[in-house]
Amino acid sequence: MIYLFCGLLAGAALTAICRPLFRKDDTLESAIIEETEWDLLQRKKEIILGNIQDLDFEHKCGKLSDEDYQKVRSELNTEAALVLAQIDQIESSQDLDALIRREVATRKNKAKQATAAAQTACPSCGIQNPATNKFCAECGAKLKVS
Ligand SMILES: [Zn+2]
Repeated sequence: MIYLFCGLLAGAALTAICRPLFRKDDTLESAIIEETEWDLLQRKKEIILGNIQDLDFEHKCGKLSDEDYQKVRSELNTEAALVLAQIDQIESSQDLDALIRREVATRKNKAKQATAAAQTACPSCGIQNPATNKFCAECGAKLKVS
């Protein structure tokens, strides 16, 4: 009981810590959710495939009748197909997501380059420095941070 309570408390604390992090970026948040769901499905797939393997083994050993084997095996096959389809769906939507993220990153980089191209005159020697520089490349004087 105490373990359950501690687990809940830790979970609540973790959620409280992580929430502001996720809020910052909606794309990041959706990516994290998708990854978690994907991980879950991957684990589910592993379990189902493991069950199929076990089932095949037990059938091979003669522990299972053909009838039981066929019945359980077809159930597992259906489950596996479902999970694989779900994984497929997430992966294809993640491709789109990745594409969008790349486009956004490219745009951000372009904006950064535009900022970098902006020049600031040194208040001490008058030489033009990139606006991103904190100190003059010529005399080392502190530049106004824009
Ligand atoms: Zn200078």
